[in-house]
Amino acid sequence: MSYPPYIGRFAPSPSGSLHFGSLIAALGSYLRARSQGGQWLVRIEDIDPPREVPGAADDILRTLDAFGLHWDGELMYQSRRTEAYQAKIDGLLASGEAYFCQCSRKQIQAMGGVYDGRCRHLGHQSGAIRIVNRARVNHFHDGLLGEVTVPESFAAEDFIIKRSDGLYAYQLAVVMDDAETGITEVVRGADLIEASCRQLSLFNQFGHQAPAWMHLPLACAEVGFKLSKQNHATPVDKANPLPALKAALAFLGQPIPDAHSVESLLAQAVADFSVDSIPRRREILIDSGG
Ligand code: GLU
Repeated sequence: MSYPPYIGRFAPSPSGSLHFGSLIAALGSYLRARSQGGQWLVRIEDIDPPREVPGAADDILRTLDAFGLHWDGELMYQSRRTEAYQAKIDGLLASGEAYFCQCSRKQIQAMGGVYDGRCRHLGHQSGAIRIVNRARVNHFHDGLLGEVTVPESFAAEDFIIKRSDGLYAYQLAVVMDDAETGITEVVRGADLIEASCRQLSLFNQFGHQAPAWMHLPLACAEVGFKLSKQNHATPVDKANPLPALKAALAFLGQPIPDAHSVESLLAQAVADFSVDSIPRRREILIDSGG
C-alpha cells in the first residue's frame, strides 16, 4: 500500500509579530514535516483586515527565514483566494447547503449560545451565511492527544462561513486552502481543537480527503490564557534565534542539540524529532512572554 507524500503547513494570521507561542506551532509543524521527509508550506491568513497589523506578514516571513524555517513552494495568501471562496459559497447557496441568517449575537445568546438553525427556511437574501451542517463531526483522532470529542450541540451547529460584514470565515478558508494544497496533516496549537471538528465537517461535506491532525500544547502565561499577539506576547528576536529555538525545542520535549547555527540545530532537531516526547497536554505554563 502506498501513502501520499507528507505535506504539512504553518498558517499564521498577520495580526502581529511571531512570538514564542506561534514559534512553537511553526517549529512543531516544520519538524514533523521534515522528519517525515515531507514538504512544509506557509500560508498567510490575511482575510480579516480589522485584525491585521500593517507589515506583520512580511515580519513573520523574515522571522521564519532568520530562524531557518524555510518553506517549500509558493507562499499562499488567503487575500488572493476570495474569488474561490465566493464561488464555493455561491454553489452552496444554490444547492441549498448554505443560507442567510439575520440573527443577532443577542438572539444567539438567548438560544443558549448555540445557533438553532431557525433561519434555514426563511429565505433571507442578506446577512451572515451559514452552512447546513450535515456532517456534524464531534470527534476525531489526534496524533498526540488520541480521541478528542466536543459537545454534540456544538458539533451540530450550522456555523458561519461568511460573516455579515462580508468577511469570509476562517473555517471555510482554511478547509478550502488545506484541500487545494493537498495538506496531509495539520499540526497546530490545541486552541484549535474545536475548530478541527468544524473543519472536518466541511471536509466531509465538500467530499475532500481530510488531513490527519496533531494539536500541540499551548504556551500559556496563565491558566486558560495562551500567549497571543492580542495579549502582547513578546516577539521572538530575529537577531538571535538560537535561544528561542532551543526554548521551543525544550517546550516540545525534544532534546536540545549542542549547535551554534540555526542550520545545524534544525538538522539535528529533525533527525532527533520524536512525537512520543511531546507533552500530551493542552496547555503548559511558561514564565514569561519571551
Ligand atoms: N491562522 C490561525 C492562527 O494564526 C491558525 C490557523 C491554522 O493553523 O489552521 O491562529
